[in-house]
Amino acid sequence: MAAIAKRLPANVPGDFFVDSTCIDCGTCRQIAPASFAEGRDASYVRHQPAGEAEAHRARMALVACPVAAIGTATKHVFGAARAAFPEHLEDGVHYCGYAAESSYGARSYLIVRPRGNILVDSPRYAAPLVERVAALGGVRWMFLTHRDDVADHGKFRKRFGCERILHRADLESGTREVEIMLGGEEPIALDDEALFIPVPGHTPGSTCLLYRGRFLFSGDHAWWDPRHERVHASKSVCWYDWREQTESMARLAARRFEWLLPGHGTRCRLDAERMGEELARCIERMRGESR
Ligand code: SF4
Repeated sequence: MAAIAKRLPANVPGDFFVDSTCIDCGTCRQIAPASFAEGRDASYVRHQPAGEAEAHRARMALVACPVAAIGTATKHVFGAARAAFPEHLEDGVHYCGYAAESSYGARSYLIVRPRGNILVDSPRYAAPLVERVAALGGVRWMFLTHRDDVADHGKFRKRFGCERILHRADLESGTREVEIMLGGEEPIALDDEALFIPVPGHTPGSTCLLYRGRFLFSGDHAWWDPRHERVHASKSVCWYDWREQTESMARLAARRFEWLLPGHGTRCRLDAERMGEELARCIERMRGESR
């Protein structure tokens, strides 16, 4: 529970606030950008919700926050906010909300499709979310983009019997039991809708999922930088090899897609041509940082 005594001074006066336990994961800014903004090393309430629609988004942010750093001075009813996840984005692709602290608040996604749902990275194992996922058909596969965002993967496996998929280069003690291990650097098709594309760099086994040629689930390989309105990858959070990450990005640029759906950072949708241009510009900047 967020504590008023820990309320950050940057919050505007009013009902909603962020307290000092915020880990700056950006989840609230993605869900309710009208109300939450990025501060120095934490989010804050920049604008109290105006009207019910904004208040609902702010309550969704509160529910999704991985460390319960968002609070309200008055009593709210959270049933609708809890039931709002997974939130449909487009074409069966959902955003799960309910970020997990152990994944540092990474985003996760549920792809709902007749041939078997795919959970991309692990949300927090929260009862309201698990019930909704079950109602949407459960989880047939759980794809883990890399070793950092695995959170409650074991609980989802136990509940839904899903097969977990992870590149073998990112196996660690907690993930050695995954059912399907990817290998090498060549793309591997799950079926004609879902293609795993290894992108070593951020970690040795980082892998993207390209779904229906439109949605790229990028883990921590790349994301949208809203401040500069461009695709971005960061050398400062590259844990393995920046040159490899740059070359992985160059291979990825040969693909066409519209949605960039990261673990950390902001998602975006662009037309495929613009996305290709943004990737090309990102690669140029990355190569500049490699020299
Ligand atoms: S969701 Fe919570 S932890 Fe993440 S930035 Fe917002 S307040 Fe901070």
